[in-house]
Amino acid sequence: MEPKVNVGILWNKEITFLLDGEYVCDERKVSGEHTVSYKDNQILWNGQIYNELLFTPQTEQSTFILRDVVIGINFHWERKEEQRFQGDLKLIVANGMITAINLIGIEDYLTSVISSEMSATASAALLKSHAVISRSWLLAQIEKNKHIIEKKENYTAFTETEDEIIRWYDREDHTDFDVCADDHCQRYQGITRVSANVNVVRKAIEETRGLVLKYAGEICDTRFSKCCGGVVEEFQNCWEDIKHPYLSKLRDTENENDILDLTKEDKAARWIESRPAAFCNTQDKKILRQVLNNYDQETTDFYRWQVVYTQEELSALIYKRSGIDFGTIEELIPVERGASGRLIKLKIVGSKKTMTIGKELEIRRILSESHLYSSAFTIKKHDGSFILRGAGWGHGVGLCQIGAAVMGEKGYTFDRILLHYYRGASLEKLY
Ligand SMILES: [Zn+2]
Ligand SMILES: [Zn+2]
Repeated sequence: MEPKVNVGILWNKEITFLLDGEYVCDERKVSGEHTVSYKDNQILWNGQIYNELLFTPQTEQSTFILRDVVIGINFHWERKEEQRFQGDLKLIVANGMITAINLIGIEDYLTSVISSEMSATASAALLKSHAVISRSWLLAQIEKNKHIIEKKENYTAFTETEDEIIRWYDREDHTDFDVCADDHCQRYQGITRVSANVNVVRKAIEETRGLVLKYAGEICDTRFSKCCGGVVEEFQNCWEDIKHPYLSKLRDTENENDILDLTKEDKAARWIESRPAAFCNTQDKKILRQVLNNYDQETTDFYRWQVVYTQEELSALIYKRSGIDFGTIEELIPVERGASGRLIKLKIVGSKKTMTIGKELEIRRILSESHLYSSAFTIKKHDGSFILRGAGWGHGVGLCQIGAAVMGEKGYTFDRILLHYYRGASLEKLY
């Protein structure tokens, strides 16, 4: 049977929502606008106190609207808006606030997630590949969460010593629901925006219903990113130290198995500063537009890019983004690179302090106002400036979206695309 997913949408001391259609809660019929507020670790609604509330729709047409949902958390475009959802609305108490959770069938959830992620021009092969990996990823996260909660494991994503900070960002911080609605997990806005592509997306979801990737009996943790840069990175270089055989390094080309050892500094530099053939080596706007909904036309080259900072700019940026006073930045020194040439550790040498940081997302976060495209870059100093030349966009693990879009255009079917990126995995229908 199709599982349901608990999506954490928002948390606040007070939440206002509109039940547009008939719902049942606490064995009563309800509809219209309501406000709940937090009181003494419980929920106050209509003058009564509850531990939790569940609003279940009574018709196909019943939807609910949540007011003041914060989107783009910590991004420059952060703002509030109202959002509309199908399925159940569940309200619980956590961390001194009320959390609004949307309980929804996985296939409806995927339709929403993929139609906001992909554009209407995406090929059927690309959409079907995406349906399978979004479904697999989600089910793998739900399994992993269960496991962590059952075993009461102390999950840490952080090590810090006097001269080293190594951290990674994953989604184990959710215990009251399976995934949140922000980019941290997968961006989900319910049915707020009916995208132009919703019908083609629905078709791709239906045609792959219940289909997931499995490896050694387990659902694959199917990571994906925008552009690998020519070589796909390995899981343990971006997150916790576990080797997933189906998330191993590979060349993003057909029939090419000899991969340079990009963990070696000289080879990585040569690789990043050249433009080797790869599926994702494209500047074709028609293809980029498939993967990038709301595509910003100015950037066309994600395969190879360059960012230049003056020493002053870089020093101010690193101070602002890390909160650590390094003084004037004198050197950026690669310490450790992964299979795709992405930096896992980078030493920052300042006039006041020297420290090593990692892993890839932390490096990208500290070296840019938002996020540097990737951590696969070389550093050159020239005339008092730092020139960063880089490859790819995102962590580079698993499916490369731009590469997959190119494969789709070349006529590869969705299963061949998937088995190119997730080596040794197999497709299985769960329901
Ligand atoms: Zn999340
Ligand atoms: Zn690629």
